[in-house]
Amino acid sequence: MKKYCGVDLGGTNIAAGIVDEEYHILTTATAPTPKGVDGPTLAAAIAQVVEESAQKAGLTVPELAGVGMGAPGYIDPVAGINRFSGNLNLTNDPMAENLSRCLGGKPVKLGNDANVAAYAESIAGASRGSRRSVMVTLGTGIGVGIIIDGSDRGMAAEGGHMVIQYNGRPCTCGHRGCFEAYASATALITQTQEAMAAHPESLLWKLCEGDIFKVNGKTPFDGRDAGDPTAIAVVDQYLNYLAFGVSNLINILEPDAMVIGGGICAQGEKLLIPLRQRVRQMVYHHLFADRCSIVIAQLGNSAGIIGAAGLAMN
Ligand SMILES: [Zn+2]
Repeated sequence: MKKYCGVDLGGTNIAAGIVDEEYHILTTATAPTPKGVDGPTLAAAIAQVVEESAQKAGLTVPELAGVGMGAPGYIDPVAGINRFSGNLNLTNDPMAENLSRCLGGKPVKLGNDANVAAYAESIAGASRGSRRSVMVTLGTGIGVGIIIDGSDRGMAAEGGHMVIQYNGRPCTCGHRGCFEAYASATALITQTQEAMAAHPESLLWKLCEGDIFKVNGKTPFDGRDAGDPTAIAVVDQYLNYLAFGVSNLINILEPDAMVIGGGICAQGEKLLIPLRQRVRQMVYHHLFADRCSIVIAQLGNSAGIIGAAGLAMN
């Protein structure tokens, strides 16, 4: 069976994995992402992680059938260029070519990280078999990956920055009212902390041992499950924000699958059931919601590696 290498390049870590044709990860290797370096230096660091993952699988780089990489930023997947990445501090960096050179000329496919994760779910995870799917990852920000007609090209969507509230909360992008300023995990934590400040009697204080900085994406859901009125209100409002963003994406793209990823999806059906109810009411016509299955991501942190290997495979 042929073996591929998938690289998940993040702002903090480089992860590489050897993946077989059935999308099983055989071995992985990781290293910290070097900070403040130029493209060729970054590529050399990535190449080391690729080599290490291959070695663990008893392979050499020339024996790999292909290499793919997902990276943060505005990516041109055809040219293999990262046009701009604030995270990596790169502009017009020929990432695919740089990495290929470090790997003895082995061709490298490049994709945007959110798209690569959406692609992984569409070939080996929650949206397998769908023609058009959207993946919304709720993390520090919100990543949106869009897969059209099963293509690995996808679209470099910045759906996290569609405005859902005119003149609303400030966003890291410099604008106001963005989806991610309301529905990311970070936004949920902020909303929980604000509600706690206004409600010293809330059970939420007990759940974080009196330390407001210990609030995480799970805290408000735990409070809601325990019947705390403040937590119930926070989660209810959060679900509305999330549903607005998801409904907008469904109205525009009419996907047949909407995959929700990120730490908050550990809530499973407790997140999905109220989300589906809200989306059904918010979309243009409920048929839009009926033809789109809203599901939880299945691949977790493996999506980056599997999707990147999938780029090289298909
Ligand atoms: Zn924004």
